[in-house]
Amino acid sequence: MFYGSVAFAVFLLAVVAIKYLAPKPTGCPQCSARRQGDHPLCIECGWIFDVEDDDDDDTIATGDEIEGPWAS
Ligand SMILES: [Zn+2]
Repeated sequence: MFYGSVAFAVFLLAVVAIKYLAPKPTGCPQCSARRQGDHPLCIECGWIFDVEDDDDDDTIATGDEIEGPWAS
């Protein structure tokens, strides 16, 4: 059961890593359109580029919350 929890946490981290490493940071991760300089939104599909930083922080915090109670 303990190893299953760790494997599940690693699996979630792997999925998140693939999700953010696969698309090029120079373009829109949703439609692959090139970012227009200081534009915070993708002009093609409305993707919000600034959200990436918030998601990254949220993912790290969630990972700590998941591993904490199970490990101890
Ligand atoms: Zn886009």
